[in-house]
Amino acid sequence: MRHLLILLLGIFTFMSQPAFSSPVIILLGPPGSGKGTQAVRISQKLAIPHISTGDIFRYNIKNATPLGLKVKEYLDAGKLVPDSVTLEMLFDRLNKDDCKNGYLLDGVPRTVAQAEAIQEYLKAHPHKLLVCNLVVSDAEILKRITGRRSCTACNKIYHIESAPPMQKETCDICKGPLTQRTDDTPAVVEERLKAYYSQTKPVEDFYKKVSQVHDVDGAQSSDQVFNSLLKILSPSA
Ligand code: ADP
Ligand code: ZN
Repeated sequence: MRHLLILLLGIFTFMSQPAFSSPVIILLGPPGSGKGTQAVRISQKLAIPHISTGDIFRYNIKNATPLGLKVKEYLDAGKLVPDSVTLEMLFDRLNKDDCKNGYLLDGVPRTVAQAEAIQEYLKAHPHKLLVCNLVVSDAEILKRITGRRSCTACNKIYHIESAPPMQKETCDICKGPLTQRTDDTPAVVEERLKAYYSQTKPVEDFYKKVSQVHDVDGAQSSDQVFNSLLKILSPSA
């Protein structure tokens, strides 16, 4: 009887803990490297939430929330939002229930200070860290970003040349109108690339010290990138 109780208690304790192998996936790569597109597909395939700090900021700007009003000027200028603001918002999100079996981070961390704060947080939250880095040249980035369009309703991403919608300016999935992000103009893209090289590139070296960083050729087709990522993230899928 006593053994049975101990066994039941053990099973209960085990079930109430998040699985040790909950994946925490971090996607690194320059703006326009395809992080957003791949993040949506990976999070669907692995059934974990996709957390994009850029999407959360844009949602708040669109709805004119206090956070949105605070960060709008940074996004419009292609500059990074201050770490304190980004991290407070991020940890709020990570503490939600749906994150307890893992999640995928897209667009964060973007500074070494953010990476350090996330690493501290992860120490107290069992997980399996998987870091992938999408590698794409600057010339390809400019071409991709300036042709990028997204659905105002469901966020699906298109490209006027490489992935056009079936009907001009209309989403294939939900028929919502497509729009260009206001920070996807050449001048702002240049600022975003500057911020990437000075503040975000060093994040790669940070992760090389604490984990393995899997480089993936982001110049491949979207399907090829997806398959390369899946082999790394979920070898049995
Ligand atoms: P992209 O990767 O294509 O530049 P994002 O949607 O990830 O697009 O980010 C858009 C903008 O949102 C950035 O230029 C920046 O102003 C802000 N932003 C997003 N994530 C972060 C972050 N982790 N730290 C600071 N600013 C961020
Ligand atoms: Zn849509």
